[in-house]
Formats: sequence, structure tokens, C-alpha cells
Amino acid sequence: MYSAFADRLDEIQARLAALPDTTWRQRPGDAGLIEDITGQPVAVLGTSGDTKLPVGEFIAHAPDDIAWLAAEVTRLRCRAASPRPTPLASRTGWDQANFRCGQCGAQRTATTEVDYIRTVSAHREAHAVFDRLNLVERSGMGSILRTLLHDIPLSTELLTLIETGQQHPS
Ligand SMILES: [Zn+2]
Repeated sequence: MYSAFADRLDEIQARLAALPDTTWRQRPGDAGLIEDITGQPVAVLGTSGDTKLPVGEFIAHAPDDIAWLAAEVTRLRCRAASPRPTPLASRTGWDQANFRCGQCGAQRTATTEVDYIRTVSAHREAHAVFDRLNLVERSGMGSILRTLLHDIPLSTELLTLIETGQQHPS
């Protein structure tokens, strides 16, 4: 589901959990030696001195880093699997979805998720515009929209005239 590769999260977490102690560090003064908190060597890189090597840093932080990554993967998977805020069909089981506006009771049906989002957004934005208009403005806007929506070529020509007029005021 998540990728073409086999899911390794469980075995990764099992390997991490099997470690007796995961507080690792580069031994002070001997950075080539990775030790646990009791001083038991975990890995010996064959160098000495105090210069911290990238591979030593990587090993010393591996248990913490892997635990963090595993927790993050789990969190993201849970979020991806959590239900949508609106009770819609899943992406695979999509047939159609109905939207009923809590404000005006309007009902809309969409057959794709994209269509649903577009429909609901348009309806909510329409409410926002409607709320900003007074009665006279609503009447005027209704008259304009009726004319424009029923004659798209007219609307296009009118818009062209308006834009041309703005560029070349007489
Ligand atoms: Zn509504």
C-alpha cells in the first residue's frame, strides 16, 4: 500500500527493542570506540583520539534516530488512515457524495472527489459574497448574473469592451 517494497517497520522496531541498552556515545578521548552507558564497547572503529568521525556519530545516534523515524512513520500512517472530516466514500470506493449546506439547506451531488471539493468551496464562497451584499446589491447582482450566465459570448464581448475601455479611456 505504501510502496513497492515489503513493509519493514515491524522488524526494524523489533531489532531496536532487542538491544539491551541504546544510550550510546563515542568514548571521550577515544572517539573511535562506541560504547553504551556502562562503558561496554558496542563498536570499535579502529581509530583513536578525540576527533569525532561521521561514521561514529552515525552509529552512536542510530538507536535514537531510528526510534524517532519509526515513531514518525507510525504517526504519518495513522494520519493517512484516519477518517475524513466529512463522511465520504474512500478514494477506491467512490461512487458519489452528497453535500447538504447547514446554512441554507441546498443539496449538491458530486461524482468525483475533485468535483466535490470544487462544489462545496464554490457554495461556501457564494455564501460569503451573499453575506456582504445588501438587498439592493443582491437584486442588481442577480440581474447581472442572469444576463451573463445565459449568454456567455455576450459576457466575453462585454468584458473585452470593459478591458479595452480601461486601457484607452476616451
Ligand atoms: Zn448554503
